[in-house]
Amino acid sequence: MKQKETLSNIHLKREDILFNESMIDEMGDSHFMTSVDTPMRADAFDKTDEEKIAIIQQHFKVIMETMGLDLTDDSLRDTPKRVAKMFIKEIFSGLNPANKPSVALFDNKYKYNEMLVEKNITFYSNCEHHFVPIIGKAHLAYISSGKVIGLSKLNRLVEYYAKRPQVQERLTMQIGKELQTALGTDDVAVVIDAKHLCVASRGIEDDTSSTLTSFYGGKFKEESTKQEFLKYLEFNTSF
Ligand SMILES: [Zn+2]
Repeated sequence: MKQKETLSNIHLKREDILFNESMIDEMGDSHFMTSVDTPMRADAFDKTDEEKIAIIQQHFKVIMETMGLDLTDDSLRDTPKRVAKMFIKEIFSGLNPANKPSVALFDNKYKYNEMLVEKNITFYSNCEHHFVPIIGKAHLAYISSGKVIGLSKLNRLVEYYAKRPQVQERLTMQIGKELQTALGTDDVAVVIDAKHLCVASRGIEDDTSSTLTSFYGGKFKEESTKQEFLKYLEFNTSF
């Protein structure tokens, strides 16, 4: 009842509604983001994964039914449950710090003090403005400060931050800052090249563009180091 009263007290003019809707579209298309940290509620982890799945399942069923879909159909019946599980356990599992990969470092006994580049790390994320996929490649580099990281951990870190509702700028910065912390050095670079399905499959429907973002810390802010890194990215690996 309370909700009904609130709604009846709002008298919006048609122009206001149109204006607000176009603002919302524009904000989504312009990659507006508010902070480097993913904005999370204080009660984000009060519920268990199972409780979250049950709630999302109920709501997704309502969304499907509102669109007119018949959930008594065998093919659609289990979709709400499937989507809810996929959100919590798979594509948005990176929201939960409990799923953050532990990063083991090794002593750099062989004194390798050149740049290490790990390129073409494929990732799948989702745009936080439209909840449709972002598909991309991440290219990472660092210069060892005495410790080295297991190479697969670089992939795992990219995956962890990608499995959140994201904007590409934030994803790039979160990976860069995490690498700096994990490796104990500022000398870190991240370049991400990604395709946003909210640009390709809807809205402007541009299927050929891709978006590039970068993060350069420490020595990578120097032009020669940056150029060396970018040159490695041009290398065509033939295997
Ligand atoms: Zn989007």
